[in-house]
Amino acid sequence: MLSLRGHILPESVGGQTDSDTTFDSFAALTVVAKMVCSTLALEPLLQLIADIVADILEVSAAKALFLRDTDELVLKFTRELPEDFAARLGLRKEALGRIAAHQKKAIFVERVADDPRASYAKELEGVVSCIGVPLCAKEKSVGAMELYIRRSFVPSAEQVEVLETVASLCAMAVENARLYESLKESYETLKNTQAQLIQKEKLASIGQLIAGIAHELKNPLTSVISYAQLLADSAGEKGEAIDELRAIETNAKRCRDLIDNLLHYSRPSSLKLEIHPVSEILEGVIKLLSYELKSRNLELVHQYSGDAPDALVDYQQIMQVFVNLIMNAVQATDKGGRITLAVEPSTDPEFVTVRISDTGCGISEENLSRLFEPFFTTKEKGKGTGLGLYIVYSIINRHRGMISVESKLGAGTTFTMNLPAAKV
Ligand code: ADP
Ligand code: MG
Repeated sequence: MLSLRGHILPESVGGQTDSDTTFDSFAALTVVAKMVCSTLALEPLLQLIADIVADILEVSAAKALFLRDTDELVLKFTRELPEDFAARLGLRKEALGRIAAHQKKAIFVERVADDPRASYAKELEGVVSCIGVPLCAKEKSVGAMELYIRRSFVPSAEQVEVLETVASLCAMAVENARLYESLKESYETLKNTQAQLIQKEKLASIGQLIAGIAHELKNPLTSVISYAQLLADSAGEKGEAIDELRAIETNAKRCRDLIDNLLHYSRPSSLKLEIHPVSEILEGVIKLLSYELKSRNLELVHQYSGDAPDALVDYQQIMQVFVNLIMNAVQATDKGGRITLAVEPSTDPEFVTVRISDTGCGISEENLSRLFEPFFTTKEKGKGTGLGLYIVYSIINRHRGMISVESKLGAGTTFTMNLPAAKV
């Protein structure tokens, strides 16, 4: 008779007499069903399954659990197994669990010493019997389990029957947990895409607004500059208020340059597309910034993959992108820090991936969402304009590329870009 009194199943499930048998099985299955359906997290579920199966069979055993990953069964979880044995088991094609999954039925080996299917379990000291249980749902094996038992074990017919039902319940729970996980992943991707879309629209409308305002400001500013010059010239070098007039001229000119800069990058001006190896553009920028890098004693790491395709880009503009990103990295990194430049093939053959990382101060979550907005800066007055990343974004966008950023406060920041690859 079946008496399921382990540490997982409650005492009350265990039967008292033979006549209770049917009820016992039913009660046990109800408990198992409730338990395996109560968690959608895969990891705890696997542990629960391992315990339940051992409980059903009323054995204490070392355990290994495999799960199907595309075509193969991969070892996911072990308990009380030495590490080296588990490592070998993971690689063993003919493990008992894998055979059981293939045959879609449980295999009971009473004496591992006499059965070649489980002879590898002889390595485990004191193990006498071994069991392989497939986890099958709707004719599909989603995984398998192996139990290594330190006594001779032969299951009753009823234990086998209950075990098969439990195994299919567990398989369904595993399927559910996996569906839930992939659903969660899709949801995260969707959320990110949506966030990017919102960001893109926000930047596009800010860009339009800025271009409009900049354009409107240009004419009155030109007048201010000309009149200031005119007045200064007619006042002569020693004339009244000459310093003030020159100050008006200088500051108005600064405004005009800023506006020119903004207009230049907001306008959908044409790109002069040429084929260049990305590493070459990066090296050009490094030469340009060698003083800044040296004076801060920063280590520069180059990770240029030979497989990376060339880029089809506007050389000057992409150079500007790299200058802005590397300058930001330099400014964020203390002396002795590291800046890494990586170029590699993208998962999408239409693009080449460029990564610029630093070991600098990092960016807070709150600031991350505002990073590409024009005039967003955390630098003190006179040190930053907050236009660098806005320009970077505009240029990459105009190339129909992508840019994203990951950062951890105190640890560093990585900007990842996908630039259009030249067709071979
Ligand atoms: P600016 O450099 O003029 O401040 P940017 O648009 O280039 O303007 O950068 C905006 C802000 O983004 C910076 O002020 C800084 O706070 C943050 N930032 C950009 N790059 C990094 C980086 N590599 N590490 C830390 N913070 C960064
Ligand atoms: Mg900057």
